[in-house]
Amino acid sequence: MSIISVLNPKGGSGKTTISTNLARSLHEQGHSVLIVDSDPQGSARDWHAASEENPIELVALDRPNNIKTLTSMATNYDYVVIDGAAKLEDMIAACIKVSDFVLIPVQPSPYDIWAASDLVEFIKARQEVTDGSPRAGFVISRVVEGTRLGNDVRAALDDYALPVCDTTIVQRQVYPQTASEGLSVFDADNTKARAETTALSDEILVMLA
Ligand code: ADP
Ligand code: MG
Repeated sequence: MSIISVLNPKGGSGKTTISTNLARSLHEQGHSVLIVDSDPQGSARDWHAASEENPIELVALDRPNNIKTLTSMATNYDYVVIDGAAKLEDMIAACIKVSDFVLIPVQPSPYDIWAASDLVEFIKARQEVTDGSPRAGFVISRVVEGTRLGNDVRAALDDYALPVCDTTIVQRQVYPQTASEGLSVFDADNTKARAETTALSDEILVMLA
């Protein structure tokens, strides 16, 4: 069992969108997956409740102590995907501790990237005492199609010295559309969205290996 946390204290960076679609992508590849909603706002819970056909199991754990139990409670899943909370330091720290991989979605703006600095420091401090666990990487999220990412964005990410996924997640209507039905891009007719989501999950599995 591997635990992947999708973390960024900044709201709107795409954590819930990426968590739900990533979980579904792993499920499509034949893995058993549990989504953990660690955000008291409960967006992933609302998403899960919106469909009776959702094949992914979800549990809500919004106390740091409950997150700790995942390492012993979720051993029969191949992957646990934690949808991160905003601004709750204890919660984020608990997620970092149990994770094998932390995915940090950031919108392509220097302000959003700078806002990730405390999180990156947290992760690096943990890596130092554990010999490199959890591994971590950025994914640039909500990119406007057809735009080239500015050098400022790449340069700001370079400063953190963490890997950046080659895959970017583009701003597409299909993400909120499928979310409102409790579904994922794998339930919609949008080849590009499915392809980028699959590419992202493949990249994460390589980084986890
Ligand atoms: P977070 O969980 O980090 O707060 P969300 O996943 O809830 O972020 O995304 C914030 C808002 O942006 C939501 O309304 C969501 O539907 C929308 N959104 C996120 N990612 C995309 C995307 N790739 N394309 C279009 N809309 C998106
Ligand atoms: Mg969210």
